[in-house]
Amino acid sequence: MRIGGFQKFSLLDYPGQLAAIIFTQGCNFRCPYCHNPELVDPERFEKPLATGRVLDFLRRRRGKLGAVVITGGEPTVQPDLTGFVKKLKFMGFLVKMDTNGSHPDVLQSLVEQKLVDYWAMDIKPPADLYRLVSRSEVPVEDILRSMDILRGSGMEYEFRTTFFERLFDWKDIARVQELPGPATVSTCRNAATKAPLKTSAAAPPTSGNTCRTIPPAKPSSAGVTNTR
Ligand code: SF4
Repeated sequence: MRIGGFQKFSLLDYPGQLAAIIFTQGCNFRCPYCHNPELVDPERFEKPLATGRVLDFLRRRRGKLGAVVITGGEPTVQPDLTGFVKKLKFMGFLVKMDTNGSHPDVLQSLVEQKLVDYWAMDIKPPADLYRLVSRSEVPVEDILRSMDILRGSGMEYEFRTTFFERLFDWKDIARVQELPGPATVSTCRNAATKAPLKTSAAAPPTSGNTCRTIPPAKPSSAGVTNTR
């Protein structure tokens, strides 16, 4: 695992759990609003943390921390991700994974092995702007397949998006719901910096941020966070 950062303690990143956060190095997208470019651009990578030392720390925190959040970068580009998550599960941690959804085969494998308890997938709005926003060649079909996998996973999951006003407007955000299985989308902008801020119904916005929630197009549609 290429681990570019490690936060030993968080009250905010796994609902209801004290969690550590692992930031993986590397991403196949180049979103212009990315707030972790040092985890995306190889020229800005710092020397990765030793995976063994991170695992040793977590081993000593068993019983104190309830969960580990794996974020990035994009975790699913890590070739040894599955083995790493198995070690976390063996230690008894709940695992949350943030993903851009570009590797449905990896998601499928992790879901089938029940290695991830909580998924958070970023949706880059809307389908026809996907490559423009992600600045990648990702087939949108892969994104849709990942959404289907998470919907059928039986695990907790959320779909979330980021409002970036230099690229799209609120109508584009609303069109996210044209993706199969419309979802409630919450988007925020930091009031002080005007920087886009990721948020979701599962992580209520902090004060000082301006937020707007777009409800599902149909009353029966799934919300941002689902528990099955
Ligand atoms: S998918 Fe996430 S980590 Fe990757 S470039 Fe986009 S915002 Fe940054």
